[in-house]
Amino acid sequence: MPRRHDTATCRATPDYGVRVPPTSAAPAPTAPTPISRKHDAQPKSAKQGESAAQGVPAPQGDSGPPRATAPQADPGASASPAPQANPATPPGPAPDPLIGRTVAWFAAARRDLPWRAPSRTPWGVLVSEVMLQQTPVARVEPVWRAWLGRWPTPAALAAAPTADVLRAWDRLGYPRRALRLHECARVVVERHGGTVPADEAALRALPGVGEYTAAAVAAFAFGRRALVVDTNVRRVLARAVGGVALPAPTPTAAERQTATALVPDDDATAVAWAAASMELGALVCTARSPRCGECPVGDLCAWRAAGHPGDEHAHRRRAQAWHGTDRQCRGRIMAVLRGAPGPVPRSVIDAAIDAAIGAAISTAVGAGTRSAGAAPESRPDRAQVTRCLAGLIEDGLVEQTPARAYRLPAD
Ligand code: SF4
Repeated sequence: MPRRHDTATCRATPDYGVRVPPTSAAPAPTAPTPISRKHDAQPKSAKQGESAAQGVPAPQGDSGPPRATAPQADPGASASPAPQANPATPPGPAPDPLIGRTVAWFAAARRDLPWRAPSRTPWGVLVSEVMLQQTPVARVEPVWRAWLGRWPTPAALAAAPTADVLRAWDRLGYPRRALRLHECARVVVERHGGTVPADEAALRALPGVGEYTAAAVAAFAFGRRALVVDTNVRRVLARAVGGVALPAPTPTAAERQTATALVPDDDATAVAWAAASMELGALVCTARSPRCGECPVGDLCAWRAAGHPGDEHAHRRRAQAWHGTDRQCRGRIMAVLRGAPGPVPRSVIDAAIDAAIGAAISTAVGAGTRSAGAAPESRPDRAQVTRCLAGLIEDGLVEQTPARAYRLPAD
């Protein structure tokens, strides 16, 4: 789960380029207030996914060519020049209360994350967005710091061996993202001279960069107006605007229309809204326990006004299993190979997985959550290991040696 905000660590708003709209600081009134025209035709839609991305209102700017300097205490600061002033559009007229209040709340409640620091680089923002696509902030932050300390520029990562990249990815999960990021770094070097492009279309053409990530980098690294919609934003809009408990399982065109209509016209406010709406979803309007009493837009919220009706899409959602899945097995295999100095025989992989399963069962039994006999992991499945190894090889994450041992890719 995302880290809770610690107000003691928050920086002052101007440090991050958040411009609080003039009407946005008003406290939430107690009676329901109609949302402005931009919300009129809002659908009851949206959905859930898990990108966990945490946006940052960035100073408007563009980066010059990165410098390959030695890592310092703040890895983001060591990689490239700070963004320079950009003649972006000035703030427009005061936005509607939903936006204004959310941005004002964010200015005071935002988490102090390293990829939000004034010294951040476009490369650091891009790396954070890729890491956060499937992984919570608390797990990403230490890996991100180590990553940027080691590879502060795309050129540095591009020159790294694939095995090192996969080891540094550690336990973030979905390690194909590490391969894509590695490939992305190489393309940035070849196609853009080692500088992360600011243009969304150019960003989308990079390996592993989809619509969301391109928009997030354009906004948070370059201060550009963009439609930045992650899982948290979808949930906030579904509730506050659509009046439903959760967005639909898959994004809809109507949902996109809603989000598009809300994006403020000027760069600065659009970026602030993107970051603030994400943060509201991560810290207050959470999936399972929204804290409506603390919400800056509580009186504007359609779902709250309707009495918190149930999730109309509940029957379409499937719980994500973990124990005993191929995903867990793949993770265990990767952990074995990351920790090995060289190729690992299959027998060693099997033994390591048996040990991991035994440890998991002991922990579960010790905690009283299950009996050893009932634990599905008490029956190691060699066919599953075989299947997962084949899948990892196919994905380019593992290689088999002529001696039929396994290792991380050698290049
Ligand atoms: S009032 Fe509650 S449900 Fe509505 S946006 Fe705020 S936290 Fe979410």
